[in-house]
This record gives sequence, C-alpha cells and structure tokens, in this order.
Amino acid sequence: MTTGRHTPTRLATGGDNAIAVTLAILGDEWNLWILRHAMADARRYGDWMAQGSISNSVLSSRLASLTESGLFVQEQYSERPVRFEYVLTPRGRAVWPILIAMWAWEQEWAPASEAPLPTMHHTACGHDFHPRLGCRSCGNPADAHDVVAAFGPSGDWSRSVPTSVGRRRSQTAVQPSELLPHTMELLGNRWSASFLGALFLGAHRFRDFAERTGASPAIVSDRLRRFIELGVVEARSNAERPDWRTYQLTQKGLAFFPVVILMIAWGQDWFEAPEGPALVLTHTACGGPFHPELLCGTCGQPLTGASIGVR
Ligand SMILES: [Zn+2]
Ligand SMILES: [Zn+2]
Repeated sequence: MTTGRHTPTRLATGGDNAIAVTLAILGDEWNLWILRHAMADARRYGDWMAQGSISNSVLSSRLASLTESGLFVQEQYSERPVRFEYVLTPRGRAVWPILIAMWAWEQEWAPASEAPLPTMHHTACGHDFHPRLGCRSCGNPADAHDVVAAFGPSGDWSRSVPTSVGRRRSQTAVQPSELLPHTMELLGNRWSASFLGALFLGAHRFRDFAERTGASPAIVSDRLRRFIELGVVEARSNAERPDWRTYQLTQKGLAFFPVVILMIAWGQDWFEAPEGPALVLTHTACGGPFHPELLCGTCGQPLTGASIGVR
C-alpha cells in the first residue's frame, strides 16, 4: 500500500468533491473489471479483450477516462505501428483493497451471484483469508460502530455525488463476466450511493433521507424499498408511535462499511478539494485519525498488495 510520495489531483473550487469523483470512477462495473485485470498484469488492449465480454468501444472509452483520472499512464511499446499500453499508476494500484473488500462482501452476503469470485490467499501466513478492516493509527480492527465521520469543508451532499453515476451503466447492455451485483446496486446509482452515505451518517427516518439527499418522497420510498429487498436495511416500527418507522442498516448493510470507507479514503488520498476534505474520520477506539487498512482475517497482519494471491 502506497501512502507517501503521491500528488493528489486538485479539484475545482465548489465542484464535485473527492467522494463524487471516486463514485464516478469506482461506481462503474466496467472500470472495476478493467482495474481487476490490470492488477493481474493486463496492459495491452488484447489482454483485456482476451478476458471475454468487453467490447472495443467500452474498453477504449473506459481506458481513456481512467487514464484521464490518473489511474493509468500510457506508454508506447511499438513505433510502427504506433501502439500504447496502459500501465497502472500508484493511484490505480491503490484501488486493490477496495476490490478485495467488494469481493469479500459479495462472497459472504450475495452468494447467489452467478459468476464465481476469486479466492484470496495471504502468502505471508499461507492461508486463504477474509479481510478485516483495520485502523492504521492503532493497528486494531475497526468497524462502522467505532469510526466517526464529521463533514469537512467540502462535504455537503450536493458535491458528494456525481450526476453522471448510473447513466453510463444503463447504456451498456452487456455486463462484465465477473459480476458484483449487490455492490453495484449500492454504488452504481446516484440516489443509492447518497442513501448509503446517509445511513452510515445516521439517517433513520424517512424525513432524514429527503432532507439530507434532496430526494423526492417517491425516490425515498423507492430506494428504501429496494434496500429492504436487498437485505441491507430493515424497517422498524415504534410500539408507542405506530406511524413512526425507522430504517436501520442490517448486518449485511453494516458489513459493507469497509467498502465505503476504503473508497472515501482512497478518494481523499488522491483527489483534493481546495476547501479541504469532505469527511474527517476518527477511530473512537484509539482516538486517532482513522485511515483504513485491511488486515488478514486469519493471522491479523496488515495485508499488502504483494502478499495477496488471487485465484
Ligand atoms: Zn485506531
Ligand atoms: Zn494471514
């Protein structure tokens, strides 16, 4: 995991913040698919085409936008004809914990997924593992209950979700052979991503969602219904106030926290609003600033990109 030696991209004043930029990049299943194969050493057009389902036009448009966002650099490998390969930058490489966390969550909570997901092996201890979220300040495990997020200067809702999320997806009829269906339900749509953020930041009542995200009552009903169907949210009635329903994250919903927090941290590492961060994270268990890392669930040691084998 690279922490030092990187230069974040400076975003426009008052525009999309680091979270919005991250959702636009990683809330797209083709981008995730391309990155996943790049981490397994795909560099040339043909390397990705050989993996199956992607079309030429989707591949070229996604590679161009991932390069523009600084996850790849183009390197020329042939003069006649002129040919380039796409090499992951440190920013692109740093996406690996997010991919690992998504796979782990899908494997545990969406087992009906059609395509088999990779098995992850920790070469340092010699065991297959399920990753755990850890705090880099204290080295201990952390979860949604002991990480507190406060809005920073660029943190308002309107700047945290890109308008483009969900549009590109509907244009693509063909989907990647390696599906992350529930992950994409939560991240690949503008409103879903907002609602997920609101839930982790403590929204419980119908009114909270409308106020915080700016969604109409029809959208609030629709998203809450879908989240309940997916099993990430449950509705509870209050015995004293039968009309007063609250919405809480279930175990499945809470278990998605590592994905959310790793994405936020990656975004804030690599994209910087001039006003300051969107969210300031604290690990209440140790009192330190919360910067996430992944621990091996078997031996407890921090995982590094080099110590993971994916089959
Ligand atoms: Zn800590
Ligand atoms: Zn291990």
